[in-house]
Amino acid sequence: MDTIQVCERCRECCRFTKKTLYYATLFTDKEKQRAMATGLSSADFVSYRGSRHVFQVRLIPSVKVAGEYVCPLLDEQTHRCRIYEHRPLDCRLWPFFFMRSRNGRGALLASFRKDFCGITDAMKKKQYESFMRENSDLPGLLGFINRYPEFIWDYESYTFPVRFLKRVETGYVWADDRAS
Ligand code: SF4
Ligand code: SF4
Repeated sequence: MDTIQVCERCRECCRFTKKTLYYATLFTDKEKQRAMATGLSSADFVSYRGSRHVFQVRLIPSVKVAGEYVCPLLDEQTHRCRIYEHRPLDCRLWPFFFMRSRNGRGALLASFRKDFCGITDAMKKKQYESFMRENSDLPGLLGFINRYPEFIWDYESYTFPVRFLKRVETGYVWADDRAS
């Protein structure tokens, strides 16, 4: 499957409407520095909920669709990310993301439904299962969320739980017994 071609047809990611501006991509301080090396400036980011280490990119009006907004790193003509190889974890994780549990007290790694993304939707059952397993086991994921708990989004419907987190004295750990 040529994922770039699927994305070019789908064009769901990296675009936002007035109602979804809240979901603009988050960058850690290091990811922001990398993005600034491509021509963005610090004015293209705002602190996320007052954080000194996590920033939300300032979206810009789409030149193709009136009323929509896009990440300034998106090439709208090709629907390709200008920093694809170095895109932030928030983008690399899709369709996974960290979120609070429905009652707001716990946290988990969740995924948007399979049919939300053209790439996962096209996967056969076995391929999808192995994709889910590999991506929920990405090295460093636990260290990342402990360092940047700001990445735990509010509860979102249209999702399902993949792995639960447990809060212990030292921070978050996985509630299951998988290795990473
Ligand atoms: S939702 Fe999936 S297929 Fe669509 S643009 Fe995003 S990654 Fe590509
Ligand atoms: S950094 Fe790249 S992948 Fe992420 S939202 Fe922006 S254009 Fe899309």
